[in-house]
Amino acid sequence: MMFETRYETMSAAELALIRMERLQSTLNRAYLNVAHYRRTLDGAGILPEDVRSPADLQKLPFTTRADLEKGYPYDMFAVPLREVVRIHASLGKARKPIVTGYTAGDLKAWARLMARFLTGAGITRDDVLQISFRYGLMTGGFGFHSAAELIGASVIPADIGNTAEQAAIMHDYLTSAIACTPGFALILASRLGELRINPKSLRLRRAILGAERLGAGVRSRVEQALGVEVFDSYGSSVVLGPGIAGECSAHDGLHVYEDFFIPEIINPATGEVLGPGEKGELVITTLMREAYPLIRYRTGDITMVQEGACPCGRTHVRLAGFFGRTDSTVKVKGTSVSLDRLREILAAEGVATRIQLHLCREGAFEKAVLLVEIGETFFFDRMRDQKVFIEKLEKNLHTGTGLHLGVKLVPFSAFRGDAPVVDERDE
Ligand SMILES: [Zn+2]
Repeated sequence: MMFETRYETMSAAELALIRMERLQSTLNRAYLNVAHYRRTLDGAGILPEDVRSPADLQKLPFTTRADLEKGYPYDMFAVPLREVVRIHASLGKARKPIVTGYTAGDLKAWARLMARFLTGAGITRDDVLQISFRYGLMTGGFGFHSAAELIGASVIPADIGNTAEQAAIMHDYLTSAIACTPGFALILASRLGELRINPKSLRLRRAILGAERLGAGVRSRVEQALGVEVFDSYGSSVVLGPGIAGECSAHDGLHVYEDFFIPEIINPATGEVLGPGEKGELVITTLMREAYPLIRYRTGDITMVQEGACPCGRTHVRLAGFFGRTDSTVKVKGTSVSLDRLREILAAEGVATRIQLHLCREGAFEKAVLLVEIGETFFFDRMRDQKVFIEKLEKNLHTGTGLHLGVKLVPFSAFRGDAPVVDERDE
């Protein structure tokens, strides 16, 4: 089942043609209306009309998160505010917010892309879809919501609060599909257990997941705990929200909606463009964004392009899952945390030793512990002082990131390898 068969099964030649036209118009829009793009293109000695083939894209400079942060709040908008009908922003205390805007056309396009994903995941007007993503400044809830209504499903905008109530809703309201993060799906499964509701007694058939990396371990735990078929999606609140790529019924990678986005995979160290099957950083150029066009935006997400045609019949290229971030940033309980930010917070207390973040699950819940190497400057001979110091670090980390991280002071020999993050949430 497809929502827009004509676009989703376009031939390579037709796709190339439509993409070139849309790229031209995006470059012109950005060059004329956004000072940052005018400056960077001028700096590279390129005019929008110089880009005549897909290969020419590689002449264009990358856009980074720092560029977008500098544009706070509205400098990266390519239309006047009176044409903007929706504003979203990335949250998180660890970083400066990025504010994005949507024209009426952007919102319609967004709903269409998400409708492609939901339809591919088997959602129809006969479904009761419980949307347990946050409705607010972040893009999650709204991204799923408009598309589900467009398809004609019965939408329950459940948000992310009160998980026990949500488990009851899932049972009583005859929810047939749930849209949420993988972590939230596991929490709901454990609430069902507490409420003595057998998942087999539910009408639930599908879990539409997003906003967190989905590994094979968590996928199968969600499948088993809820008795559902799982569909993964990829989005970025900076680029659009959810709706950049989505898994189809073949369950073998996520199709990028290529008539709307040009994905490139690059070596994050050199910027060199990599081929299919080579792991690197995902770079995205938007082709249809009116209010907030992005040219070669470095997402920081590590993935690779899957080779070969998909049995589902869609011609759009697939991403073979996600393998972490380029910038030592991890998502913990749905919040992005940068290791550099943790180091900054510790440094304010005079701690400048090595750290390692351990992530695991206790039942359905994520647990995060920060190992901090014991240093000469904070050596304690009395356990009580050490306890007070650790509590102070934990409090500062909570204030600085919004997350509860347990702190352990240990010798470096207690670290597990030298990677900054040990992530066992998927095991
Ligand atoms: Zn497919």
